[in-house]
Amino acid sequence: MKKKAVKKRKKRPFKGSILAKRVTFPEETSIPWLGMLLDCYFIADKGISLEINKRLKRGEVLACKKGCSSCCHIHFTIPVYPLELVGIYWYVIEKLVGNEREIVKRQLKEFKKGSPCPFLIQGSCIIHPVRPLACRHFNVFNRPCEPGEDPYYTRRNDVLTPNEKFKQRALSAMLPFHGIKEKSEKKRLSRIGVLNSVVKNMHEIDWKNLALRMDGKRPPLGP
Ligand code: SF4
Ligand code: SF4
Repeated sequence: MKKKAVKKRKKRPFKGSILAKRVTFPEETSIPWLGMLLDCYFIADKGISLEINKRLKRGEVLACKKGCSSCCHIHFTIPVYPLELVGIYWYVIEKLVGNEREIVKRQLKEFKKGSPCPFLIQGSCIIHPVRPLACRHFNVFNRPCEPGEDPYYTRRNDVLTPNEKFKQRALSAMLPFHGIKEKSEKKRLSRIGVLNSVVKNMHEIDWKNLALRMDGKRPPLGP
């Protein structure tokens, strides 16, 4: 007897649920790596919203919101992958204008290891559409972090555990940037280790270089 095909029911979003949206820029058609980066972030954001929604459904409250930013003052080990760094350079040089551009430029010039993130302006992330995976993955529930508090140590249960499958898939989406063009996701996933050798710590990056590039200068060391 023929088996009946089991239709997978699409889960309906509930009131207050978070929906991941892919960011787009018109430049994607002319900048090959940009679409790759935005795809990577979309995959990660889907995994993040999935996990956040599970907790919202259980009645927990997401504490992270615009203007809440003590995390951006105290996290000094934020990994930034090369494709992410290129994305930040592009966004800052091409998209920031006016006063915000000047503030970021000054913060980049003055940045020292241990300073608050140079992309933070009045409690908001000025590079939000291209903020690194690590920033996307850090979400806290129930109450906002106290100034100086790292809830990973003070109340681990309030910190979202990222969806590992989506996290790995997002990383694997970056591999073509490093010349790894395996078609099957399985093969790409097996090569993610490559990224460990090229990842940088946000606080060890020479951000003055980016400030110079914002002025149209071409310092010898690129991102
Ligand atoms: S991680 Fe903490 S400080 Fe950062 S946005 Fe969330 S609640 Fe606010
Ligand atoms: S990149 Fe944005 S979200 Fe990440 S630490 Fe900096 S200001 Fe915060």
